Amino acid sequence: MIDTPKNLTRNILLGMFFGFVVGASFYYLDFFPDSLTSFITVYVFNLGGSVFINLLKMLIIPLVFFSLVSGISSLTSMQSLGNITLKTITLYLSTTAIAVTLSLVVGSIFKPGSGYSSDIAPPDKLPEGQGIYETILGIFPSNIIEAMAQNQMLAVVFFSILFGIALNKTNHLTGNFSNVFEKLNTVFMQLVIMIISFAPIGVFCLIGKFVITDGLDIFQEAFKYVILLICVLIFHALVTYALILKIFTKLNIVTFYRKMKEVAIFAFSTSSSAATIPVTLKTVQNDLGVNKNVSSFVIPVGATINMDGTAIMQGMATVFIAQMSGIDLTLIQYVQVVILAVVTSIGTAAVPSAGTITLVIILQQFGLPLEAIGIILAVDRILDMIRTSVNVTGDAAVACVVASSENLLDKEVFNK
Ligand code: ASP
Repeated sequence: MIDTPKNLTRNILLGMFFGFVVGASFYYLDFFPDSLTSFITVYVFNLGGSVFINLLKMLIIPLVFFSLVSGISSLTSMQSLGNITLKTITLYLSTTAIAVTLSLVVGSIFKPGSGYSSDIAPPDKLPEGQGIYETILGIFPSNIIEAMAQNQMLAVVFFSILFGIALNKTNHLTGNFSNVFEKLNTVFMQLVIMIISFAPIGVFCLIGKFVITDGLDIFQEAFKYVILLICVLIFHALVTYALILKIFTKLNIVTFYRKMKEVAIFAFSTSSSAATIPVTLKTVQNDLGVNKNVSSFVIPVGATINMDGTAIMQGMATVFIAQMSGIDLTLIQYVQVVILAVVTSIGTAAVPSAGTITLVIILQQFGLPLEAIGIILAVDRILDMIRTSVNVTGDAAVACVVASSENLLDKEVFNK
């Protein structure tokens, strides 16, 4: 097995800490000349952060392609692929439904939007969301090269599965050509690890960039909404997933969270489940012991369609805006919010702030004032970081449950 650099998690945490400290010193102290502040912002934080995200993104498509193809081409029965798919999708939809329900219950008990009146101006242009129709159509690419170039994950997953099956069926004619993909996959895993070793610097830049531009004043608006949302996100990450792991597997929960630290930090600093795919895949395979046949499907699909954190935000935001505008949602409407949030979180792209874009679809559905999205956007940066960590933790938890139910989880690796 390929080794990760020593003390990586500790160094990433240090990078995060120094990013905060340096960013905050520039933001809050008048001591530094403006020219130096803008130089650091642009040439250190922005440039460094973007380079690091580009490096991660550079790996996504080839990594997903090679790992899925090599996984599928080595499957001995296609029945198992069907089982894995069915279990994955069912678990993804159920955890998301639980997530929205939680946020709706908390939102209607603690009423974040009551007594709140806003004087925030509406955004100049309202973002447009993607509906379920486009999502379904997006699974079937008309041009695979274009789909790869545009990072269309579901299309790439679909094509890789087909390609893997064809490779599997023709192995006896091609002199076991699937071995080549197996080897390429190993090479790409090594590349992931090489790039992850720069994570302490990358995370330093990403966090620094966030603090130097926005400061740490995340509660400027909608204090109760922010606090409640953070509580539900943490609860879902620590309690719901723990329960699911407890019920469906016999795995040690503390070990799961300990090993997920790195992935959560990556998601937090990049605000993108997609950019985090290489790290999630590496951790789930190498550290949690999930077999490649499961992880190579569950993780990229999860990064694209499983967004519990996003659904929690959408539920809470809907309740918040409804209460703020003095609209009482009925029970039926609550159920509709659950269904809509599950569907829109599937259609949400795994990139920063995408969740607020698809929130528009829900607000429109209930005739809620779209201007209110201005308030949500004003506090969204840090919330996006936290919910992305929840999104990826959910993907990994489901990967463990599916793998363990298929006997495709190596307990020795998990417990190591
Ligand atoms: N940033 C989130 C993700 O990539 C999506 C969102 O909720 O905005 O998972």
